[in-house]
Amino acid sequence: MFEAILYEKLPGLQVQCNVCQWRCKINPGQRGVCRMRLNRGGRLDVLGHEEVSSVAADPIEKKPLFHFFPGTLVYSLGSWGCNFHCVHCQNWEIACVDGVLGSRKLSAEAAVNNAKKMHCAGIAWTYNEPAMWLEYTIESAKLARKNQLYTVYVTNGYLTPEALDAIGPYLDAWRVDVKGFSESFYQRVAKVRHWQAILEVTKRAMKKWGMHVEVVTNVIPTLNDDDRQLSGIAGWIYHELGPLTPWHVTRFYPHHKLANLPPTPIETLDRAAEIGRDVGLRFVYTGNIAGRDENTVCYHCNKLIIRRVGYNTQVVGTRGSRCDYCGSELNIRTWLGRSGTQVLPGGV
Ligand code: SF4
Repeated sequence: MFEAILYEKLPGLQVQCNVCQWRCKINPGQRGVCRMRLNRGGRLDVLGHEEVSSVAADPIEKKPLFHFFPGTLVYSLGSWGCNFHCVHCQNWEIACVDGVLGSRKLSAEAAVNNAKKMHCAGIAWTYNEPAMWLEYTIESAKLARKNQLYTVYVTNGYLTPEALDAIGPYLDAWRVDVKGFSESFYQRVAKVRHWQAILEVTKRAMKKWGMHVEVVTNVIPTLNDDDRQLSGIAGWIYHELGPLTPWHVTRFYPHHKLANLPPTPIETLDRAAEIGRDVGLRFVYTGNIAGRDENTVCYHCNKLIIRRVGYNTQVVGTRGSRCDYCGSELNIRTWLGRSGTQVLPGGV
């Protein structure tokens, strides 16, 4: 058993977990909303510490991260459980579970060694919510950093500021879902309240910890495809994260408990992208559309900067984070750490 961090002991052997915004108060013998933290007689234990459900060496573009070490492979790890219960979850087999199922142990040391052996430039905690195994990701991220590997969270962003601050010093990229832009949407689709906390913690990831941030919105017919929500998300990114922050609007496919809805029409995604560009975002990408590849083009001189064909990526026009032709800043991260000093990741 592995003792959790970030919890408080309350009277009567009750505990309060402060890893995510649920801040569950848990009685002895009970688990939190995520089902992955258990009160054992007044001590909060993590279920699934070092237990890996999924492993792959993925192109970083698959996360998707388009402006972060483009063209590199990232060692991708998933565990079990989630603090959201999304009706359209793509990974419900590992996320919507009641504990750990048929996994294998992988120590932080082994994860870092595997990443290097597989020629990956970094490690991503993805497939399910990384906060589910916060303690493990902190340990692994510290080790990854020592080995010149970059570190990525693919997250729903529902962490507390305390949890963010615990992983913040060791994390390079924050790939966050902003799934919608209303209380009713988040309640209906993910069954969570306080959804604005996602926006606050994402700002903190960027401003306090200097992380590279990219935002994904899966556009679902009838649920979040209205102009009000899409322009709300785009406007928030523009004003709070800045116009150079990439926004990915991706196609929904019928899945899990939303099998009754049709796939997102292409015109809807194009409209979403137009809304983003009209607001002033410089990099809006449509995703999950078969046969459509999204390149990065300089917003100032219109030259091709990064060519993507499927997951084959060629960087053709950058100088550091700038356009090689006109010198415009493109917010492309290719260094590790906070200083801006160029350090190539190990293992590539
Ligand atoms: S991680 Fe979140 S959902 Fe899980 S026990 Fe802690 S506060 Fe509750």
